Amino acid sequence: MAQGAPVEDRAVAAGDRIAPGRLLVKAEGGTSGPVLKEANRRLRASLGGEVAGNGISVVDLPEGLPVEEAIRRYEEVPGVEYAEPDFVMRESALYPRDPRFKTQYGLHNRGQTGGRADADIDAPEAWSKTAGSPAAVIAIVDSGNYTRHADLRDNIWRNPGEVAGNRIDDDKNGYVDDVNGWDFAHKDNTLYHGYDEDDHGTHVAGVAAARGNNGVGISGVAWRSRIMPLKYIGPGGVGYTSDAVAAINYAVQKGAAVINISSGCDNCFNQSLLDAIRRADAAGRVVVTTSGNTGRNNNVTNHYPCNYASANIICVAATDSKDVLAGFSNYGSSTVDLAAPGVGIPGTVPNGSYASYTGTSQAAPHVAGVAALVKSKYPGLTDAGIKSRILRSVDRKPGLSGKTVTGGRLNATRALQ
Ligand code: CA
Ligand code: CA
Ligand code: CA
Repeated sequence: MAQGAPVEDRAVAAGDRIAPGRLLVKAEGGTSGPVLKEANRRLRASLGGEVAGNGISVVDLPEGLPVEEAIRRYEEVPGVEYAEPDFVMRESALYPRDPRFKTQYGLHNRGQTGGRADADIDAPEAWSKTAGSPAAVIAIVDSGNYTRHADLRDNIWRNPGEVAGNRIDDDKNGYVDDVNGWDFAHKDNTLYHGYDEDDHGTHVAGVAAARGNNGVGISGVAWRSRIMPLKYIGPGGVGYTSDAVAAINYAVQKGAAVINISSGCDNCFNQSLLDAIRRADAAGRVVVTTSGNTGRNNNVTNHYPCNYASANIICVAATDSKDVLAGFSNYGSSTVDLAAPGVGIPGTVPNGSYASYTGTSQAAPHVAGVAALVKSKYPGLTDAGIKSRILRSVDRKPGLSGKTVTGGRLNATRALQ
C-alpha cells in the first residue's frame, strides 16, 4: 500500500494544484504488466505513458472520475503499489502584495507596459531567496527624502548612537541629531525641504528599497533593507563635490554597505571625490552610480563619478521595457559596467504619492538594491565580491554588447546564485 505521502496532501482538492484527469501509478510488472492492465480495464482508464526509468505509469482517467476517487480505487487493486496525483510544481518566486507591483516591469515583466516579457531583473525569483536584510544599508547620496512616505518610513535607517531632538551630538560624529541621516546641502538634519527639491532622492530611494509586500504602493528591489538618506543636492538640483565627499564619508563611517549616487558631471575630475570613493573601497563598500543622460560615449567623454578609477564603482546605463539601451543613456565599452531598467520606472515621491521617472538615475538604484540583496544573503562579502557577482550574472543582450563592459542587463536572481 501507499507509503510516504502525507494524508493531507493525498486529500486532493480540485483546482490548479494537480493535473486534471490523470494519475501516476506504480504497479507490479510495470507499465506493460497484467496488474496495471487489469486496473485500467476496471476503471475504464487508459495508459497515457510511462515515466522513464522507474516503472511509473501515467494513467488517463475516464471523464467524470475524480482524481481522489480514482486513487482510492487503484490502490484497492492487488499489486498496485501506489497511485498518486500529478502535482503542479511552480518556480520558486515571491510575488509581493503591493498594488502597484504590476506596473513595475523592471522587476517582473509580462509585457504589461507594452514591453517584452522577461525584460526584467527577475526580482520575484530573487525574493524567494532574500528580500534584503535591515543590516544591509543603502546610502542614497542624492537630494532629500520624504521619510514619512508610507512606503519608505519603515525602511529608513536609524542612527543607533543618536538621541533625537536633544540638540546634542550624542555619537560625536560632528552632526547634531542625525537620527536618520544628514542634509549636507543645508547643514542640518532636515532631510526634506519640499517636493521640487527632494522628489529625486525620494524616488531613487524607493526604487532601491521601498517597503515591499506591505500592501502599499510599490516594491523596492531590496524591500527589507534600510535607506540612509544623505542629502547633498539642494535647490535647483545642484550639489557640490564638497558635500558629496562628506556624505560618502558619513556612509562609510555609519556602515552603509552600498552607496548609490544617481548624479554626476562631465569633465569634472575631483581628486577629493575619488579619494572618498577609494576610502569606501578600502572599507569594503560598493558605490553604484549613473552613466549619465546625454547619450554620450563615456569612453570618449569623462563622466564622473562613473569614470573614476576605483574598483568599487559600478556604473549603470538605462534600458527600457524591451531591454533596449535608452537613447538618452550614456554608454561605454570600458567605462559603463552594465544596464538596468531606467525608462518609466514607478517610484515613491513626496507627500505619499507615486510617479514614474526616467533616467539612469532610476537604473542605478536597481543595481544598488541588488547589491544589498547580495550583501543580505552573503554578509561576509566585501565590495569586490558583490560587484563580481553582479557583473558576471547579467543577462547578455546584443544591443548592450560593445556599449557596456559586460554586454548585459542586471539579473537579481542570478546574482544570488
Ligand atoms: Ca551625531
Ligand atoms: Ca542628539
Ligand atoms: Ca510597498
